[in-house]
Amino acid sequence: MPVSEFDLIARYFARSVEHRPDVVLGSGDDCALLQVPADHELAVSIDTLVEGVHFRSSDEPDSVGHKALAVNLSDLAAMGAHPAWATLALTLPDTEPERVGWVEAFSRGFFALADSFGVELVGGDTTRGPLSMTLEAHGFVPWGQALRRSDAKPGEFIYVTGTLGDAGLALLAQQGLFVPTEYAAFLRRRLHWPEPRVAQGMKLRGLASAAIDISDGLTADLGHILEASGVGATLYADSLPLSEAVRGYVRETADWSLALSAGDAYELCFTVPEAKQGEIEALIPTLGCPCAWVGIIESRQGLRCVLADGTPMDVGAGGYDHFSDY
Ligand code: ADP
Ligand code: MG
Repeated sequence: MPVSEFDLIARYFARSVEHRPDVVLGSGDDCALLQVPADHELAVSIDTLVEGVHFRSSDEPDSVGHKALAVNLSDLAAMGAHPAWATLALTLPDTEPERVGWVEAFSRGFFALADSFGVELVGGDTTRGPLSMTLEAHGFVPWGQALRRSDAKPGEFIYVTGTLGDAGLALLAQQGLFVPTEYAAFLRRRLHWPEPRVAQGMKLRGLASAAIDISDGLTADLGHILEASGVGATLYADSLPLSEAVRGYVRETADWSLALSAGDAYELCFTVPEAKQGEIEALIPTLGCPCAWVGIIESRQGLRCVLADGTPMDVGAGGYDHFSDY
């Protein structure tokens, strides 16, 4: 027996959790009523995951629930925002028992991450159609302190959290590339269970001049900072932070494209003025994740990448564009 829309919401999405104090009215009415703290701006981000494009039907549903929220929290992190609320529009082909089991696991993955960041699901929409989900996340940032893409200046240092190319290598492994089995679990976690750098983003307020999260690849996303700020940059390939797994791949193939342009990393890329570099270096050991200097902002337009001996590398067009085949 298929389950009704309302039963499904009641069972898996309208939890009787204690509301956050800023949730005047949560899920269940025509609108949620929410209170933004005084002297703060509301940061809002939305992302859609479509089956067959962003995840596969064979992916673990709890990882899809995790990732649907994680990619939005990553956007909030890149603004330096403190996450607070989320809304979820879920489109399901049916509500047969197998699907309901999928939704149950999806909601488990979703709420495990939401709870770990104190995020409350305050509403949503449930419709019938091809499997997809749209998640909107809301967070707070003290007035005027959000980390925009547009404020990078020549002479500033470029940093990246975490390691680059892991999710890209995981995708290649999924497509049949041989990767040593010792890295399999790590790579799967990096692709399916990204950890949004929320605490790190908030600590960067007042220090970073510009920030972005790496969803489409370092060169593409850093490219957005460069374009918005009207500047260029040089990256130093040997400084790019790589996991053992990706380092091994680069050693064997001399292919840097994973590190430079693979998407789905959900790490932060940010710029730091020279006067703040000491503070950033002191902050790094407290971030709880790796964080490395990778390059310099320059007044000369465009993005360049060089090896340690100064050999220039091709950074490619890079980045994923959903409509690039049109
Ligand atoms: P309306 O017809 O007024 O849009 P709905 O029937 O779509 O109302 O939703 C009823 C209530 O259930 C609303 O408060 C809505 O926010 C909530 N809701 C619907 N779908 C979801 C979902 N997937 N997750 C959380 N809340 C949901
Ligand atoms: Mg509705």
